[in-house]
Amino acid sequence: MGSQNRFEKWQQKQVSSRQEPILPPNSKAVKSAFGLIWQVLSTVILAGIITATLFSLWMPGNFAAGSLGKQVGEVIADGERLTQTEIAAGVLPAGFPTNRIGIVVGHRGFDSGAVCANGLTELEINSNVATYAQQKLIAAGFEVDLLDEFDARLKNYEAGLLLSIHSDSCDYINDSATGFKVAAAFSQKGDQSSTRLVQCLADRYANITGLRYHYQSVTTDMTSYHAFDEISPYTTAGIIELGFLNLDQEILKTQPELLAEGIFAGISCYMNDEEVKQP
Ligand SMILES: [Zn+2]
Repeated sequence: MGSQNRFEKWQQKQVSSRQEPILPPNSKAVKSAFGLIWQVLSTVILAGIITATLFSLWMPGNFAAGSLGKQVGEVIADGERLTQTEIAAGVLPAGFPTNRIGIVVGHRGFDSGAVCANGLTELEINSNVATYAQQKLIAAGFEVDLLDEFDARLKNYEAGLLLSIHSDSCDYINDSATGFKVAAAFSQKGDQSSTRLVQCLADRYANITGLRYHYQSVTTDMTSYHAFDEISPYTTAGIIELGFLNLDQEILKTQPELLAEGIFAGISCYMNDEEVKQP
């Protein structure tokens, strides 16, 4: 309630601070001749301004980190902190499907991913967990697409969130090769959204599954994940490695629904602006 009012106030401020149109001169003598010229001129100027504004809005360059950072900074400057949803509402194009969530089933439609000596595949784990996560998210009122690894729909994909689900190697690496990893892409909504996504997922998934957050080994493979470059720049995106197929095989194999619950809680945390305790 309180935050809604703050956002409305902010919106009104944006509207009221817009420049008033300059009115034509009031004198009778100039009214007939100059009035008409002025009317034509101001219409042309106004059209020019609108065109320029629209054009610059559509230019991707305009949404570089700097200009967005400034926009968000201005909002926060007068001591009022907007939530992620409120910021998004002011920044995203009209009609952007914020209630949609895309889940990439890691490796689906491409290969099996990591394969264990006993025949267990990464694809099997990713699919089970993604399907449970999808069901939970739909039950909570979200629209959910399950996507292939190289799904054609990824091109300029628009959604409140895109999350790719993978699992780590089945090779024995060492005794500390256990736990999960999370990484996020920079989003044009401002990089707070990526940070928030990682915090939410890491916190909720760790609490619910009991798996340890293996943050020290997030690889460049994860941060430069191919889908991050394909989707709409307004879509916040992340990738999770559910656990290691070697040392975490038991939980990956037997408790896909619990892992999905962790993902569901992490996504809900992000989508609903829930609080995350700082470690
Ligand atoms: Zn994978």
